Amino acid sequence: MEAKIDEPWTLGRLLTWTTRFLSQKGVESPRLDTEVMLAHVLGCERIHLYTRYEEEAPDDVRQRFRDLVRKRSEGCPVAYLVGRKEFFSLAFEVGPSVLIPRPDTEELVVECLRLAKPLAEPAVLDLGTGSGAIAVAVAKQHKGGQVTAVDVSPEALAVAKRNAEKHGVAGRVTFLLGDLFAPLPAGERFDFVVSNPPYIKSADLAGLEPGVRDHEPRLALDGGADGFAVFDRIARGAGDFLKPGGVLLVEIGSPQEAGARARLAARAEFELGATIKDGSGHPRVLAARLRAPDGT
Ligand code: GLN
Repeated sequence: MEAKIDEPWTLGRLLTWTTRFLSQKGVESPRLDTEVMLAHVLGCERIHLYTRYEEEAPDDVRQRFRDLVRKRSEGCPVAYLVGRKEFFSLAFEVGPSVLIPRPDTEELVVECLRLAKPLAEPAVLDLGTGSGAIAVAVAKQHKGGQVTAVDVSPEALAVAKRNAEKHGVAGRVTFLLGDLFAPLPAGERFDFVVSNPPYIKSADLAGLEPGVRDHEPRLALDGGADGFAVFDRIARGAGDFLKPGGVLLVEIGSPQEAGARARLAARAEFELGATIKDGSGHPRVLAARLRAPDGT
């Protein structure tokens, strides 16, 4: 680089150099990622880097940082490198067994909380909880929320449990290992059934961004031949686990809106609500209310 050979590696210089390096490697948010990784290695909040630019980086910090930067430049998502991701203003532990929570999914949480507000103790079922992002955010924001979180992956469930403990809601979140509704006691009914199921068409997996394709769990992405494999099972089963008037909230891929709406509209037990859009204006969440047995 053009810097003099004996110029010290201050934190400021590391940030500038690495941002440029990652940018040349095609990383989308090189400055942010650099800051997140450096703060992680230093064990400080990202915001505190700004007052430490002049500090010299100790050798061990530089070495650990360099290792992360290399993996980032090879495509590993930054959230896996630092083992955490913020969702709904809460820091979640993440690892290779769970999908990294996306801001899009916050729309589902917002809608669930909005509808749950009048209820003192809403019972919420989260299918395919992964990191527990939805389950923990709902329990954290609604102090009476009673959440049941299901996942078919024991590794994911262990991560979700730690996240519930970390955010002080473990007492109100029940974790069940199994496939969708399978581990639930028959007859149990919820005010909400929520899910961010895998919804990518199997044939589209290969074309996903490499960071997603090569690092995030396939189990959390693969929605089968038409992308609706899991959606359909949720739509079919939810009526048996919702209270009358209870609401199903399910995240969808934006190109799936018409198909997903048609599928729910075809089920007489549901009254379909408006599609909820994400922050970029794309269709993201469908809501359907279970009619009372008399059809109202
Ligand atoms: N939103 C994710 C992606 O496109 C997919 C998540 C999912 O299948 N539920 O990367």
